[in-house]
Amino acid sequence: MRQTNEMKIEFDSRSCNESFARVAVAAFMTQLNPTLEEVADVKTALSEAVTNAIVHGYENQVKKIRVECEIEGQMLSVQVIDHGIGIEDIKKAMEPLFTTKPDSERSGMGFAFMEAFMDEVNVESEPGRGTRVSMTKRIGRIKES
Ligand code: ATP
Ligand code: MG
Repeated sequence: MRQTNEMKIEFDSRSCNESFARVAVAAFMTQLNPTLEEVADVKTALSEAVTNAIVHGYENQVKKIRVECEIEGQMLSVQVIDHGIGIEDIKKAMEPLFTTKPDSERSGMGFAFMEAFMDEVNVESEPGRGTRVSMTKRIGRIKES
């Protein structure tokens, strides 16, 4: 049977907690023996999702963000959950360069980065209820000899 392992954290939607969440997930995934690049990829994707929860989901109000991680075999899954404003049109929101905040230094590349650095990204959201971003990545590819 493939081994599974889980961890969940919840923290205030303050930007100073973004680095905490990054380090917590990076520490959790070390059991998979990741490369430095894999750790960097997951940290980048997580940062984007947590930043989105802070600036879009909660519009900088301080509420709770949950990060749930699961390891199954070599698969890492990371979910970032907020109970903020939600997303009306998920497909559109995920298009590269689409942003609802063009005047505040947002380039609309967050979801594109998540998709580039993780194997799979799935977004569930309901306006007024919140957003759940689920990302998976296979860690520690079999080395070629
Ligand atoms: P960047 O990430 O480049 O700074 P951005 O955050 O606008 O810019 P994306 O991260 O790709 O770009 O997100 C696209 C759009 O999706 C956002 O502008 C916002 O409208 C919406 N969005 C993303 N995450 C959330 C969320 N957690 N809650 C509500 N809306 C969100
Ligand atoms: Mg973003």
